[in-house]
Amino acid sequence: MTRTVYLNGDYIPETEAKVSIFDRGFVMGDAIYEVTAVLDGKLIDFPGHMARLKRSLGEFSIRNPLDDDAYLAAHRKLLELNGITDGMVYLQISRGNGGDRDFVFPPEDTPPTVVMFTWNKPGMADNPLTQTGIRVITLPDIRWKRRDIKSVMLAYPSMAKMQAKAAGRDDAWLVEDGFVTEGTSNNAYIVANGTIVTRALSHDILHGITRAAVLRFADEAQMKVEERNFTVAEAQAADEAFITSSSMFVMPVVQIDDAEIGTGKPGPVAARLREIYLEESRKSAI
Ligand code: PMP
Repeated sequence: MTRTVYLNGDYIPETEAKVSIFDRGFVMGDAIYEVTAVLDGKLIDFPGHMARLKRSLGEFSIRNPLDDDAYLAAHRKLLELNGITDGMVYLQISRGNGGDRDFVFPPEDTPPTVVMFTWNKPGMADNPLTQTGIRVITLPDIRWKRRDIKSVMLAYPSMAKMQAKAAGRDDAWLVEDGFVTEGTSNNAYIVANGTIVTRALSHDILHGITRAAVLRFADEAQMKVEERNFTVAEAQAADEAFITSSSMFVMPVVQIDDAEIGTGKPGPVAARLREIYLEESRKSAI
C-alpha cells in the first residue's frame, strides 16, 4: 500500500509529495520537527509534543502555520488513511522556500513548509530489545549549543549512531566536559543507591517528552529522582542505566563502552518505569 503523507494541507501519495530544492529545510537544516508515538491508534503525550513544537518554532522565529486542533486533526487523518494502530507520526515545519539560497531569512509572509508522515510499527510496545537491553559506546558531544531546540540538524547524531553500529553496539551516549549529556536520540539515566539520576534541563539536552512523563510517574511512585550531571565512570559503576524516547519508551542499557552495568541484565527500576509509563500514557492517549 502506498503511504499517504501530508504536505501543506494536502493528503497525497508519498511519491507525489514534492518540496522545492530551495526549501530552507533542505539547504540549511532550517526546520523544526516532532515525532509522536501511536499505540492502539491513539497519540501518546500529544499536548507535550505540541508545546515543545511551539517552543522550538519560537526559538527559530518560524511562524507556527497551524493551531493545535489542526495538527491533531491531521495526525488523526493520517493514522486513519494509513491504517496505523501502532507506529509513529513525524511532523516537520521548515522556514519554507526562500528562493535563492540566502543567510538572510526570507520575507515574513513566506509560508512555512509543513510535512507529516507515518510509520507503521506493529507491536511497537513489545520491542524484544527490552528483554536484553541495549549496549552503548560513548562519544564526544560535538553538537551545537542549543540542543533544547528540536531542529532537523541531525548529521552528527546520525554519524554517532553509525559509529556505534560499526562498533557492534546499539547507540552512543554523548559526553561533554566529562559528563553524559544524552543519547543520540534519547535521554540518558542511571540508577545508583536507589536513586534515578538524569541530567537537569538546560540548553545542553533535548527536553524529552518521555523524560517529563517518566520523572513525573517516578515521583508519584515515590521513587527518588535527582536531576544532575553524571560522569561515564559513575554510569559504569551504577546499578542500572536506561534511556527514554518517544519510540523506545523506557529502554534498559546493559553496557557502556567496555563496562557491563549492574548484573549485565535489564534492571527492575527500568522495567517498573516502562510498565508505569506504558500503562499511564495509554490512559491519557488521545
Ligand atoms: N534527546 C534527543 C537528542 C532526541 O533526539 C530525542 C528524541 N526526539 C530525545 C532526547 C527524547 O525525546 P522524546 O522523549 O520527546 O522523544
